[in-house]
Amino acid sequence: MSNPLRVLLLDDRPATAKLMVEELRRAGFDPDWKKVETESDYLTQLNPDLDVILADSLPQLDALRALHLLEKAGLDIPFIIVSGNIGEESVATCMRNGAADYLLKDRMARLGQAVRDALDRKRLREEKGQAEALMRRNLERYELASLGANDGLWDWNLIDNQVYFSARLKSMFGYDEPDVAQSPDGWFNLVHPDDLAQVQSKLAAHFGGRTRHFEHECRMRHRDDTYRWMLIRAHSVRDSVGEVKRLAGSFTDITARKEHEEQLLHDAFHDALTGLPNRALLVDRLRQVILHGKRNKAYTFAMLFVDLDGFRIVNDGLGHAVGDQMLLEVSKRLVRCVRLEDTVARLGGDEFALLLDDIKDISNASRVANRVQQELEVPCKLDGRDVFTSASIGIAFSATGYDRYEDVMRDADTAMYRAKGMGKARFVVFDPAMHAQAMARLKLETDLRRAVERQEFRLYYQPIVDLDTGGISGFEALLRWQHPERGLITPMEYLSVAEEIGLLVPVGRWVLRCACRQLREWQLQFPARPPLTISVNLSSKQLLQLDLIKQVDQILAETGLEASSLRLEVTETVLMEHAESATATLFQLRALNVESHMDDFGTGYSSLSYLQRFPIAALKIDQAFISRMGTSAEDLEIVRIIITLAHNLSRKVIAEGVETEEHFSLLKSLKCEYGQGYFFSKPLDHEGAQKLLATGHRW
Ligand code: C2E
Ligand code: MG
Ligand code: MG
Repeated sequence: MSNPLRVLLLDDRPATAKLMVEELRRAGFDPDWKKVETESDYLTQLNPDLDVILADSLPQLDALRALHLLEKAGLDIPFIIVSGNIGEESVATCMRNGAADYLLKDRMARLGQAVRDALDRKRLREEKGQAEALMRRNLERYELASLGANDGLWDWNLIDNQVYFSARLKSMFGYDEPDVAQSPDGWFNLVHPDDLAQVQSKLAAHFGGRTRHFEHECRMRHRDDTYRWMLIRAHSVRDSVGEVKRLAGSFTDITARKEHEEQLLHDAFHDALTGLPNRALLVDRLRQVILHGKRNKAYTFAMLFVDLDGFRIVNDGLGHAVGDQMLLEVSKRLVRCVRLEDTVARLGGDEFALLLDDIKDISNASRVANRVQQELEVPCKLDGRDVFTSASIGIAFSATGYDRYEDVMRDADTAMYRAKGMGKARFVVFDPAMHAQAMARLKLETDLRRAVERQEFRLYYQPIVDLDTGGISGFEALLRWQHPERGLITPMEYLSVAEEIGLLVPVGRWVLRCACRQLREWQLQFPARPPLTISVNLSSKQLLQLDLIKQVDQILAETGLEASSLRLEVTETVLMEHAESATATLFQLRALNVESHMDDFGTGYSSLSYLQRFPIAALKIDQAFISRMGTSAEDLEIVRIIITLAHNLSRKVIAEGVETEEHFSLLKSLKCEYGQGYFFSKPLDHEGAQKLLATGHRW
């Protein structure tokens, strides 16, 4: 492929012109040429699009004159002299005046190469010109920008190794005019020792042509010996072989921005209220100590999970401002309990973590835990009053072998919960059995949720016997769980968990419906005077449901059971803890004609005086009293008093846990109305209960 080439020939002999054109073609060009012989023709043909001028010295226009005219026209077009007779002297003059090359007509074979070289040189010239123009523009831009930004300017001449620093730049470092050396070391010396290596490697990269411009942020020493963050920027001028000859640019003081960035970074890893490390930073340190422990088997650490006891009461009771003060005070005390190399972090709310680095054994951790307890024993003076607090602490010790920080936190947390469960203000060291328990609990939760979906719950029925007639007056419905692996499970094992995770409300509704339906069936099958009754236990959340009354009403309507046949059992504790709302509900139930019975009487507050306040139709004396009645005169006395007082208040009494003939006869003699217990029957499934009813058995 040939290269287009616009050629102007200064020649008066057509033969040589033809020769030149052919030679150019042979060299791979595709010449588009014009031939001129006179000055006026030459001037009209001169234009910036020409690639090359090939000129002989003509009588009407000699080569030197043509060169001058070209320069005057302001054009940079390679001018090659092709002549057979021009003298050596004139050639030299022409070359000095800008001719690109010289060539004899009888050596025309060199023409192609000469044109190529001339074109190359021109391209280089242009590129260099562009680079310099860019440089000039950049510097101008710098100058303008730096005036606005108050930047200082510098200009390093690498040929004589002198640096020019502007007055503004010097004043940025606290120096007056002549103070800063004009050598590069003058500013290298000011760079922070820790940053110097990086500055130098960045410079080397730029000198080596690996970066288009130089830009770097580093700390530099001010005259007052403080360090300022400087953004240094520069462009370089290179020579034809790419060597940097000059580096010039600006210094910008970015100390304020850097400090702001550092503040942001600090904020990201610290708690705003106490200034302590936050969870993110703790996690980071935990990762480090775990790694360290992996490399060094002798290294151990411990994490203490500290949770304040009853902080919510302070926060809700005395207000958040006081709560904050308390957290601040606690954080200070916690810091006092550990060494400098340990980490005290706030995880959020009233939760703190102490990471004890490199401890000998677990006793170091328990000693710190004791110290924390002691520190917290001193009341906090808040808002003019003494506020007491304590903490429950869980300890995870690295000897357990940790790979993941989550496990450390989880175990410390598990142990902390154990401490809370054991009555607060204490610490518990995690042991793997706790983890097993926590896992078991988790499994129980998932199993329970599945049990609802798979309908694994059953109802059992335990007869309640009229002690006077010895006949069945009704049943208590008791929940059972038909577990796929563990078989039939009684409520004690899962009731509290089910209540905690909110399952007892839907399950309770099912119990109520199922029990009412079953009893209605039996009433129709075994008519009696008075009709059979059914007692259903209510959990505290169930009792506090807003729509409980509506539910009961609906279920009664749905199953066709008389309200008077239904009894709802609630425990003393629930009534005492939520006296107001519970009482209102009980009154509404009474209005519906549904009796409420107080379950497990005697185990809670045991205050008969309270009994008056609640619309309770009957008491169920807890089995603990009944079972001891035969052996302990005191317990017999208690049972007697409960029954007497209940009767005085017009309440009926049901004795639970009737296990022996003796219980039966004692209770009968005490005029207790009803009895329930293994002596009569264990809880039975619906078939068993139905069979029992069918026998019409009396005790
Ligand atoms: P509770 O309401 O006091 O029920 C009586 C418990 O005593 C039953 O235990 C019963 O099996 C047991 N029991 C009966 N007779 C005897 C006896 O002679 N000796 C002994 N040692 N125990 C006897 P169960 O079925 O394990 O239920 C335990 C508790 O679970 C119940 O105590 C009740 O508070 C609760 N519960 C049972 N079913 C439900 C339910 O459907 N909903 C709610 N919320 N709680 C329920
Ligand atoms: Mg009960
Ligand atoms: Mg009971």
